[in-house]
Amino acid sequence: MPDLEVDLVDQFICPPCVDKHPELSLRTTWKRRCLYGLEHKNPQSADSCHKPARGAFSKYCSDECGVKYMRLRIELWADKGGDKNKLWESVKGAQKREGTVVSAKLAQEARADAPSDKYTIPGLVKPEKTRKDRELEGLHAKLDEVVKKRDAEKEEMDLVLWREKVTGLAIRRSDSIEECGWDQRLCFGDEEVAEFGTSVLESYESGQSDGDAMQVDAEGEWWCQGKKKCDRHVGWQKLRLAEVQFEKEMKEQALLKLTTRERKIRTRIEDILDPHARVSATCNSVHTTPQKATTLPSTNGQPKPKAPVHADSSKKGKKKR
Ligand SMILES: [Zn+2]
Ligand SMILES: [Zn+2]
Ligand SMILES: [Zn+2]
Repeated sequence: MPDLEVDLVDQFICPPCVDKHPELSLRTTWKRRCLYGLEHKNPQSADSCHKPARGAFSKYCSDECGVKYMRLRIELWADKGGDKNKLWESVKGAQKREGTVVSAKLAQEARADAPSDKYTIPGLVKPEKTRKDRELEGLHAKLDEVVKKRDAEKEEMDLVLWREKVTGLAIRRSDSIEECGWDQRLCFGDEEVAEFGTSVLESYESGQSDGDAMQVDAEGEWWCQGKKKCDRHVGWQKLRLAEVQFEKEMKEQALLKLTTRERKIRTRIEDILDPHARVSATCNSVHTTPQKATTLPSTNGQPKPKAPVHADSSKKGKKKR
């Protein structure tokens, strides 16, 4: 037996045994092979999948093989003139199936009425949520995630800005004295900056007014008092400045990316809700029913009776889908 096929054996019966007992019609049984392997352009070759399919759960050995097989099918279909964009448009909103419900009673009636070869699935109960609601829900979840990420980036940005400021102050100070002047507080982490950040800035203000007196203060121990080109910190000014500027640039880019993504999601949400709904409803009231909307006070200064009218018409549009 070829090595490749070993995985596919279900129950092995050795050939001598098969020959010895012909009356028992013994034979080796096989598992069904992964469909991606079977449909490979050369199924016998070693680079086609030889793993067994996941039985009742799937025609494929794995999700990867399933995806690869579908890609293959789409390519073949596109080669024959299929429109990939159209295909994507029609499936991109697809979600995990919620389950379908079939009415046994209706099914029985339909079977009785229609010829057996012609009846379709009767009493099919559609999923509760419309495609529109589902898409909105997904978009809101994405939006929350982006906003959360952006807030985190902003907080880190504050830290970078603090460091940039202190670096500048420390450099200016070191320029005016015959000492190294490295400020070890530049290594503060976010918690230390939150606690001492302001006092660090203040120490430079008072340092400037007091002149050289500050260096001999016990409080000034964070400034290195070594010689101008101290062995431990030589060239710290250039290094630190470059570092903090690079960090700032990275954060700016990350923030810009997140802001752009946020704007795109918001536009998409607005596009889904119709323009009238956009005027009368805030994001928060999207999920409220029209009945509730009538009892809600107008939040944007629009005359009250208008809101329910718009909400109503948008609801009707939804139902038609
Ligand atoms: Zn045997
Ligand atoms: Zn496979
Ligand atoms: Zn130093």
